[in-house]
Amino acid sequence: MKTAIKVIGVLQKAGFDAYMVGGAVRDFLLGKTPHDIDVASSASPQEVKSLFKRTVDTGIEHGTVLVLVDGEGIEVTTFRTEGDYSDNRRPDSVEFVQSLDEDLKRRDFTINAMAMTENLDIIDPFGGRDDLDNRLIRAVGDPDARFQEDALRMLRAVRFSGQLDFVIDRETLDSIQRHAELIKEIAVERLKAEIDKILVNSFTDKSMAYLSDTRLTDFLPAGNLFKVDWSLYHSSGKAVFGWIYLLHKSNRPFADIRDYRFSNDDKRLIQKSLEVASLDFWDQWTFYQYSTEQLEMAARITGKRLDPAEAKEQLPIQTKSDLAASGRELMEWSGSKSGPWLKEWLEKLEKLVVYGELKNDKELIKDWFVNEYHRHA
Ligand code: ATP
Ligand code: MG
Repeated sequence: MKTAIKVIGVLQKAGFDAYMVGGAVRDFLLGKTPHDIDVASSASPQEVKSLFKRTVDTGIEHGTVLVLVDGEGIEVTTFRTEGDYSDNRRPDSVEFVQSLDEDLKRRDFTINAMAMTENLDIIDPFGGRDDLDNRLIRAVGDPDARFQEDALRMLRAVRFSGQLDFVIDRETLDSIQRHAELIKEIAVERLKAEIDKILVNSFTDKSMAYLSDTRLTDFLPAGNLFKVDWSLYHSSGKAVFGWIYLLHKSNRPFADIRDYRFSNDDKRLIQKSLEVASLDFWDQWTFYQYSTEQLEMAARITGKRLDPAEAKEQLPIQTKSDLAASGRELMEWSGSKSGPWLKEWLEKLEKLVVYGELKNDKELIKDWFVNEYHRHA
Protein backbone atom coordinates (compact mmCIF):
# COMPACT_ATOMS: atom_id res chain seq x y z
CA MET A 1 0.00 0.00 0.00
CA LYS A 2 2.91 2.32 0.84
CA THR A 3 4.30 1.95 -2.65
CA ALA A 4 0.93 2.61 -4.27
CA ILE A 5 0.55 5.77 -2.20
CA LYS A 6 4.02 6.85 -3.29
CA VAL A 7 3.07 6.32 -6.95
CA ILE A 8 -0.14 8.29 -6.44
CA GLY A 9 1.92 11.11 -4.88
CA VAL A 10 4.18 11.33 -7.93
CA LEU A 11 1.18 11.44 -10.28
CA GLN A 12 -0.60 14.11 -8.23
CA LYS A 13 2.51 16.26 -8.03
CA ALA A 14 2.58 16.25 -11.81
CA GLY A 15 -1.02 17.48 -11.85
CA PHE A 16 -2.91 14.23 -12.44
CA ASP A 17 -5.68 12.52 -10.48
CA ALA A 18 -4.84 9.09 -9.15
CA TYR A 19 -6.59 6.55 -6.92
CA MET A 20 -6.33 2.99 -5.80
CA VAL A 21 -9.14 1.02 -7.44
CA GLY A 22 -10.79 -2.35 -7.86
CA GLY A 23 -9.90 -5.49 -5.92
CA ALA A 24 -7.35 -3.77 -3.69
CA VAL A 25 -9.97 -1.38 -2.29
CA ARG A 26 -12.42 -4.25 -1.81
CA ASP A 27 -9.84 -6.37 -0.01
CA PHE A 28 -8.66 -3.45 2.11
CA LEU A 29 -12.22 -2.84 3.33
CA LEU A 30 -12.59 -6.55 4.08
CA GLY A 31 -9.47 -6.37 6.22
CA LYS A 32 -7.48 -8.56 3.83
CA THR A 33 -4.06 -7.76 2.46
CA PRO A 34 -4.51 -7.07 -1.26
CA HIS A 35 -2.08 -9.17 -3.32
CA ASP A 36 -1.60 -6.45 -5.89
CA ILE A 37 -2.70 -2.86 -6.03
CA ASP A 38 -4.11 -1.20 -9.12
CA VAL A 39 -4.02 2.54 -9.56
CA ALA A 40 -6.30 4.46 -11.94
CA SER A 41 -5.17 7.86 -13.12
CA SER A 42 -6.00 10.69 -15.48
CA ALA A 43 -2.43 10.50 -16.84
CA SER A 44 -2.03 8.89 -20.26
CA PRO A 45 0.23 5.84 -20.57
CA GLN A 46 2.94 8.02 -22.14
CA GLU A 47 2.68 10.49 -19.28
CA VAL A 48 2.93 7.68 -16.72
CA LYS A 49 6.01 6.35 -18.50
CA SER A 50 7.69 9.74 -18.48
CA LEU A 51 7.14 10.17 -14.72
CA PHE A 52 8.78 6.92 -13.55
CA LYS A 53 12.24 5.54 -14.16
CA ARG A 54 11.24 1.91 -14.50
CA THR A 55 8.07 0.88 -16.28
CA VAL A 56 6.87 -2.11 -18.29
CA ASP A 57 4.27 -1.93 -21.07
CA THR A 58 2.10 -4.77 -19.74
CA GLY A 59 -1.10 -3.69 -21.45
CA ILE A 60 -0.42 -0.38 -23.00
CA GLU A 61 -3.15 -0.76 -25.64
CA HIS A 62 -5.67 -0.92 -22.77
CA GLY A 63 -3.97 2.00 -21.01
CA THR A 64 -2.04 -0.06 -18.46
CA VAL A 65 1.61 0.52 -17.54
CA LEU A 66 3.39 -1.42 -14.81
CA VAL A 67 5.39 0.96 -12.64
CA LEU A 68 8.30 -0.54 -10.68
CA VAL A 69 9.08 1.26 -7.43
CA ASP A 70 10.91 -0.06 -4.34
CA GLY A 71 10.97 -3.57 -5.76
CA GLU A 72 7.20 -3.59 -6.16
CA GLY A 73 5.04 -3.42 -9.27
CA ILE A 74 1.99 -1.17 -9.37
CA GLU A 75 -0.28 -1.28 -12.40
CA VAL A 76 -1.31 2.22 -13.40
CA THR A 77 -4.25 2.37 -15.81
CA THR A 78 -5.53 5.50 -17.48
CA PHE A 79 -9.19 6.30 -16.69
CA ARG A 80 -11.11 4.68 -19.48
CA THR A 81 -14.47 3.56 -20.70
CA GLU A 82 -15.03 0.83 -23.16
CA GLY A 83 -16.38 1.35 -26.64
CA ASP A 84 -19.21 -0.68 -28.14
CA TYR A 85 -19.45 -4.37 -27.43
CA SER A 86 -20.61 -5.98 -30.62
CA ASP A 87 -20.03 -9.60 -29.66
CA ASN A 88 -20.63 -10.13 -25.93
CA ARG A 89 -16.93 -10.05 -25.20
CA ARG A 90 -14.32 -7.37 -24.86
CA PRO A 91 -15.05 -3.95 -26.24
CA ASP A 92 -14.30 -2.99 -29.81
CA SER A 93 -12.13 -0.18 -28.48
CA VAL A 94 -11.16 1.51 -25.24
CA GLU A 95 -11.51 5.18 -24.84
CA PHE A 96 -9.60 7.27 -22.34
CA VAL A 97 -11.73 9.60 -20.24
CA GLN A 98 -11.03 12.37 -17.76
CA SER A 99 -13.16 11.32 -14.81
CA LEU A 100 -12.85 8.61 -12.23
CA ASP A 101 -16.62 8.13 -12.18
CA GLU A 102 -16.67 7.17 -15.84
CA ASP A 103 -13.93 4.66 -15.13
CA LEU A 104 -15.72 3.11 -12.15
CA LYS A 105 -18.93 2.78 -14.16
CA ARG A 106 -17.39 0.27 -16.57
CA ARG A 107 -16.33 -2.08 -13.76
CA ASP A 108 -18.17 -5.33 -13.18
CA PHE A 109 -19.54 -5.43 -9.63
CA THR A 110 -20.28 -2.74 -7.06
CA ILE A 111 -17.70 -4.21 -4.64
CA ASN A 112 -15.08 -3.90 -7.41
CA ALA A 113 -16.13 -0.39 -8.42
CA MET A 114 -14.78 1.63 -5.53
CA ALA A 115 -11.76 3.88 -5.40
CA MET A 116 -9.59 5.02 -2.50
CA THR A 117 -7.51 8.16 -2.09
CA GLU A 118 -4.03 8.32 -0.64
CA ASN A 119 -5.70 9.29 2.68
CA LEU A 120 -7.78 6.09 2.55
CA ASP A 121 -11.02 7.99 1.80
CA ILE A 122 -13.42 5.80 -0.13
CA ILE A 123 -15.19 6.86 -3.32
CA ASP A 124 -18.19 4.63 -3.76
CA PRO A 125 -20.74 5.77 -6.37
CA PHE A 126 -22.61 2.43 -6.62
CA GLY A 127 -23.09 1.36 -3.02
CA GLY A 128 -20.23 -1.12 -2.99
CA ARG A 129 -19.66 -0.64 0.72
CA ASP A 130 -23.22 -1.64 1.61
CA ASP A 131 -22.92 -4.66 -0.64
CA LEU A 132 -19.66 -5.60 1.08
CA ASP A 133 -21.42 -5.36 4.45
CA ASN A 134 -24.27 -7.49 3.15
CA ARG A 135 -21.84 -9.86 1.39
CA LEU A 136 -23.49 -9.38 -1.98
CA ILE A 137 -22.21 -9.51 -5.54
CA ARG A 138 -24.23 -7.07 -7.60
CA ALA A 139 -23.62 -5.87 -11.14
CA VAL A 140 -22.90 -2.17 -11.63
CA GLY A 141 -25.96 -0.76 -13.40
CA ASP A 142 -28.27 -2.95 -15.49
CA PRO A 143 -27.06 -6.56 -15.20
CA ASP A 144 -28.57 -7.60 -18.55
CA ALA A 145 -26.66 -4.88 -20.35
CA ARG A 146 -23.45 -5.62 -18.46
CA PHE A 147 -23.52 -9.35 -19.26
CA GLN A 148 -24.37 -8.64 -22.88
CA GLU A 149 -21.32 -6.37 -23.04
CA ASP A 150 -18.99 -8.97 -21.61
CA ALA A 151 -20.35 -12.42 -20.86
CA LEU A 152 -17.25 -13.37 -18.88
CA ARG A 153 -18.65 -11.24 -16.05
CA MET A 154 -21.19 -14.01 -15.37
CA LEU A 155 -18.37 -16.42 -14.60
CA ARG A 156 -16.59 -13.72 -12.60
CA ALA A 157 -19.69 -13.30 -10.41
CA VAL A 158 -19.59 -17.04 -9.75
CA ARG A 159 -15.86 -16.85 -9.07
CA PHE A 160 -16.13 -14.01 -6.56
CA SER A 161 -18.93 -15.82 -4.69
CA GLY A 162 -16.51 -18.61 -3.80
CA GLN A 163 -13.53 -16.34 -3.30
CA LEU A 164 -15.33 -14.12 -0.78
CA ASP A 165 -18.10 -16.43 0.45
CA PHE A 166 -20.64 -13.93 -0.89
CA VAL A 167 -24.14 -14.40 -2.29
CA ILE A 168 -25.01 -13.24 -5.81
CA ASP A 169 -27.73 -10.61 -5.64
CA ARG A 170 -31.14 -11.87 -6.88
CA GLU A 171 -31.43 -9.55 -9.88
CA THR A 172 -27.86 -10.22 -10.97
CA LEU A 173 -28.39 -13.97 -10.54
CA ASP A 174 -31.63 -13.95 -12.55
CA SER A 175 -29.83 -12.10 -15.30
CA ILE A 176 -27.03 -14.68 -15.40
CA GLN A 177 -29.64 -17.42 -15.68
CA ARG A 178 -31.18 -15.64 -18.65
CA HIS A 179 -27.88 -14.99 -20.38
CA ALA A 180 -25.91 -18.12 -19.53
CA GLU A 181 -25.66 -19.19 -23.16
CA LEU A 182 -23.62 -16.10 -24.03
CA ILE A 183 -20.67 -17.68 -22.21
CA LYS A 184 -20.10 -19.65 -25.44
CA GLU A 185 -18.72 -16.47 -27.04
CA ILE A 186 -15.86 -16.15 -24.58
CA ALA A 187 -12.31 -17.22 -25.45
CA VAL A 188 -11.30 -20.37 -23.63
CA GLU A 189 -8.20 -18.73 -22.08
CA ARG A 190 -10.38 -16.24 -20.25
CA LEU A 191 -12.73 -18.99 -19.12
CA LYS A 192 -9.90 -21.12 -17.84
CA ALA A 193 -8.35 -18.23 -15.90
CA GLU A 194 -11.60 -17.74 -13.98
CA ILE A 195 -12.21 -21.48 -13.48
CA ASP A 196 -8.64 -21.86 -12.20
CA LYS A 197 -9.43 -19.19 -9.62
CA ILE A 198 -12.64 -20.99 -8.61
CA LEU A 199 -10.57 -24.13 -8.04
CA VAL A 200 -8.19 -22.43 -5.59
CA ASN A 201 -10.88 -20.51 -3.70
CA SER A 202 -11.85 -21.29 -0.13
CA PHE A 203 -15.48 -21.90 -1.11
CA THR A 204 -15.20 -23.80 -4.37
CA ASP A 205 -18.41 -25.70 -3.60
CA LYS A 206 -20.32 -22.43 -3.44
CA SER A 207 -19.08 -21.32 -6.86
CA MET A 208 -19.79 -24.75 -8.30
CA ALA A 209 -23.36 -24.70 -6.97
CA TYR A 210 -23.88 -21.35 -8.70
CA LEU A 211 -22.31 -22.68 -11.86
CA SER A 212 -25.01 -25.37 -12.04
CA ASP A 213 -27.87 -23.17 -10.80
CA THR A 214 -27.19 -20.57 -13.46
CA ARG A 215 -26.91 -23.30 -16.14
CA LEU A 216 -23.49 -21.98 -17.10
CA THR A 217 -22.50 -25.66 -16.90
CA ASP A 218 -24.71 -26.28 -19.95
CA PHE A 219 -22.61 -23.97 -22.07
CA LEU A 220 -19.04 -24.27 -20.81
CA PRO A 221 -16.70 -26.79 -22.44
CA ALA A 222 -17.03 -30.05 -20.47
CA GLY A 223 -19.54 -28.15 -18.32
CA ASN A 224 -21.24 -31.26 -16.99
CA LEU A 225 -18.06 -32.37 -15.26
CA PHE A 226 -18.36 -29.41 -12.90
CA LYS A 227 -21.45 -31.04 -11.39
CA VAL A 228 -19.45 -33.55 -9.31
CA ASP A 229 -19.69 -33.39 -5.53
CA TRP A 230 -17.45 -30.59 -4.26
CA SER A 231 -18.56 -30.67 -0.63
CA LEU A 232 -15.40 -32.42 0.53
CA TYR A 233 -13.05 -30.61 -1.81
CA HIS A 234 -10.11 -28.80 -0.28
CA SER A 235 -7.93 -26.86 -2.64
CA SER A 236 -4.25 -27.73 -2.62
CA GLY A 237 -3.50 -24.14 -3.57
CA LYS A 238 -2.96 -25.19 -7.17
CA ALA A 239 -5.71 -25.07 -9.76
CA VAL A 240 -4.45 -28.17 -11.51
CA PHE A 241 -5.43 -30.20 -8.44
CA GLY A 242 -9.02 -29.10 -8.96
CA TRP A 243 -8.98 -30.38 -12.53
CA ILE A 244 -7.58 -33.71 -11.34
CA TYR A 245 -10.29 -33.87 -8.67
CA LEU A 246 -13.04 -33.26 -11.20
CA LEU A 247 -11.81 -35.92 -13.62
CA HIS A 248 -11.24 -38.45 -10.84
CA LYS A 249 -14.69 -37.85 -9.35
CA SER A 250 -16.41 -38.13 -12.70
CA ASN A 251 -14.18 -40.98 -13.82
CA ARG A 252 -13.32 -39.26 -17.09
CA PRO A 253 -10.03 -39.03 -19.00
CA PHE A 254 -7.94 -35.93 -19.66
CA ALA A 255 -9.29 -35.75 -23.22
CA ASP A 256 -12.61 -34.44 -21.84
CA ILE A 257 -11.02 -31.18 -20.68
CA ARG A 258 -8.53 -30.77 -23.53
CA ASP A 259 -10.48 -27.75 -24.86
CA TYR A 260 -9.12 -25.71 -21.97
CA ARG A 261 -5.62 -25.94 -23.48
CA PHE A 262 -3.39 -27.00 -20.65
CA SER A 263 0.38 -26.66 -20.72
CA ASN A 264 2.24 -29.89 -21.43
CA ASP A 265 3.46 -29.97 -17.83
CA ASP A 266 -0.07 -29.69 -16.45
CA LYS A 267 -1.38 -32.25 -18.91
CA ARG A 268 1.26 -34.74 -17.80
CA LEU A 269 0.65 -34.03 -14.12
CA ILE A 270 -3.09 -34.54 -14.58
CA GLN A 271 -2.70 -37.78 -16.53
CA LYS A 272 -0.09 -39.29 -14.25
CA SER A 273 -1.92 -38.32 -11.05
CA LEU A 274 -5.12 -39.92 -12.34
CA GLU A 275 -3.18 -43.01 -13.32
CA VAL A 276 -1.63 -43.51 -9.90
CA ALA A 277 -4.91 -42.63 -8.14
CA SER A 278 -6.57 -45.49 -9.99
CA LEU A 279 -4.09 -48.14 -8.77
CA ASP A 280 -5.47 -50.61 -6.24
CA PHE A 281 -2.39 -50.52 -4.08
CA TRP A 282 0.83 -48.57 -3.93
CA ASP A 283 4.20 -50.11 -3.22
CA GLN A 284 7.85 -49.15 -3.64
CA TRP A 285 7.64 -49.50 -7.40
CA THR A 286 4.76 -46.99 -7.43
CA PHE A 287 6.74 -44.49 -5.35
CA TYR A 288 9.70 -45.00 -7.65
CA GLN A 289 7.79 -44.49 -10.89
CA TYR A 290 5.77 -41.40 -10.02
CA SER A 291 6.99 -37.97 -8.99
CA THR A 292 6.40 -36.57 -5.52
CA GLU A 293 3.91 -34.09 -6.94
CA GLN A 294 1.97 -36.77 -8.83
CA LEU A 295 1.84 -38.92 -5.69
CA GLU A 296 0.79 -35.96 -3.59
CA MET A 297 -2.11 -35.12 -5.89
CA ALA A 298 -3.24 -38.75 -6.02
CA ALA A 299 -2.89 -39.20 -2.24
CA ARG A 300 -5.00 -36.09 -1.64
CA ILE A 301 -7.70 -37.32 -3.96
CA THR A 302 -7.89 -40.87 -2.67
CA GLY A 303 -7.58 -39.81 0.96
CA LYS A 304 -4.41 -41.84 1.47
CA ARG A 305 -2.46 -40.78 4.52
CA LEU A 306 1.04 -40.83 3.26
CA ASP A 307 3.99 -38.55 2.84
CA PRO A 308 5.17 -39.15 -0.73
CA ALA A 309 8.45 -37.32 -0.24
CA GLU A 310 9.29 -39.55 2.71
CA ALA A 311 8.16 -42.71 0.91
CA LYS A 312 10.46 -41.81 -1.98
CA GLU A 313 13.35 -40.99 0.30
CA GLN A 314 13.22 -44.47 1.77
CA LEU A 315 13.74 -46.12 -1.60
CA PRO A 316 17.21 -47.61 -2.22
CA ILE A 317 17.46 -45.63 -5.47
CA GLN A 318 15.59 -42.64 -6.87
CA THR A 319 16.25 -42.97 -10.59
CA LYS A 320 17.85 -45.30 -13.10
CA SER A 321 21.06 -43.32 -12.92
CA ASP A 322 21.42 -44.27 -9.22
CA LEU A 323 21.71 -47.93 -10.20
CA ALA A 324 25.23 -49.19 -9.37
CA ALA A 325 25.47 -50.91 -12.75
CA SER A 326 25.11 -49.31 -16.19
CA GLY A 327 23.95 -50.59 -19.55
CA ARG A 328 27.52 -50.51 -20.72
CA GLU A 329 28.53 -52.81 -17.88
CA LEU A 330 25.74 -55.25 -18.60
CA MET A 331 26.97 -55.51 -22.21
CA GLU A 332 30.50 -56.06 -20.97
CA TRP A 333 29.48 -58.75 -18.43
CA SER A 334 27.22 -60.56 -20.88
CA GLY A 335 29.47 -60.23 -23.89
CA SER A 336 26.37 -59.27 -25.91
CA LYS A 337 25.76 -56.27 -28.11
CA SER A 338 23.11 -53.69 -27.30
CA GLY A 339 19.55 -54.70 -28.13
CA PRO A 340 16.06 -54.96 -26.66
CA TRP A 341 17.39 -57.39 -24.05
CA LEU A 342 19.34 -54.58 -22.43
CA LYS A 343 16.34 -52.46 -21.52
CA GLU A 344 14.56 -55.54 -20.23
CA TRP A 345 17.39 -56.58 -17.96
CA LEU A 346 18.01 -53.08 -16.72
CA GLU A 347 14.40 -52.85 -15.67
CA LYS A 348 14.58 -56.25 -14.00
CA LEU A 349 17.55 -55.02 -11.98
CA GLU A 350 15.86 -51.74 -11.23
CA LYS A 351 12.82 -53.53 -9.81
CA LEU A 352 14.88 -55.90 -7.67
CA VAL A 353 16.86 -53.00 -6.23
CA VAL A 354 13.78 -50.82 -5.67
CA TYR A 355 11.99 -53.66 -3.86
CA GLY A 356 15.12 -54.22 -1.74
CA GLU A 357 15.60 -57.77 -3.03
CA LEU A 358 19.03 -56.99 -4.38
CA LYS A 359 21.47 -54.57 -2.80
CA ASN A 360 22.54 -51.64 -4.97
CA ASP A 361 26.16 -52.77 -5.09
CA LYS A 362 28.11 -53.31 -8.29
CA GLU A 363 29.71 -56.61 -7.27
CA LEU A 364 26.44 -58.09 -6.01
CA ILE A 365 24.60 -56.92 -9.10
CA LYS A 366 27.30 -58.40 -11.31
CA ASP A 367 27.13 -61.78 -9.52
CA TRP A 368 23.36 -61.90 -9.82
CA PHE A 369 23.34 -60.74 -13.41
CA VAL A 370 26.07 -63.04 -14.74
CA ASN A 371 24.40 -65.98 -13.10
CA GLU A 372 20.85 -65.18 -14.25
CA TYR A 373 21.77 -63.96 -17.73
CA HIS A 374 23.59 -67.15 -18.60
CA ARG A 375 20.81 -69.26 -17.15
CA HIS A 376 18.34 -67.52 -19.54
CA ALA A 377 20.62 -67.23 -22.54
P1 ATP B 1 -8.46 -10.49 -7.44
O1 ATP B 1 -8.14 -10.02 -6.07
O2 ATP B 1 -8.99 -11.87 -7.43
O3 ATP B 1 -7.40 -10.25 -8.47
P2 ATP B 1 -9.74 -8.28 -8.68
O4 ATP B 1 -10.96 -7.54 -8.28
O5 ATP B 1 -8.44 -7.57 -8.62
O6 ATP B 1 -9.73 -9.61 -7.85
P3 ATP B 1 -9.18 -8.66 -11.46
O7 ATP B 1 -9.66 -9.71 -12.38
O8 ATP B 1 -7.74 -8.60 -11.14
O9 ATP B 1 -10.03 -8.81 -10.13
O10 ATP B 1 -9.68 -7.27 -12.06
C1 ATP B 1 -9.31 -6.01 -11.50
C2 ATP B 1 -10.49 -5.04 -11.56
O11 ATP B 1 -10.80 -4.74 -12.91
C3 ATP B 1 -11.79 -5.57 -10.95
O12 ATP B 1 -11.85 -5.32 -9.56
C4 ATP B 1 -12.83 -4.82 -11.74
O13 ATP B 1 -13.03 -3.52 -11.22
C5 ATP B 1 -12.21 -4.68 -13.11
N1 ATP B 1 -12.56 -5.76 -14.07
C6 ATP B 1 -11.84 -6.85 -14.35
N2 ATP B 1 -12.43 -7.61 -15.29
C7 ATP B 1 -13.54 -6.97 -15.63
C8 ATP B 1 -14.59 -7.22 -16.58
N3 ATP B 1 -14.60 -8.33 -17.34
N4 ATP B 1 -15.59 -6.32 -16.67
C9 ATP B 1 -15.61 -5.20 -15.91
N5 ATP B 1 -14.66 -4.92 -15.01
C10 ATP B 1 -13.64 -5.77 -14.86
MG1 MG C 1 -6.52 -8.41 -9.35
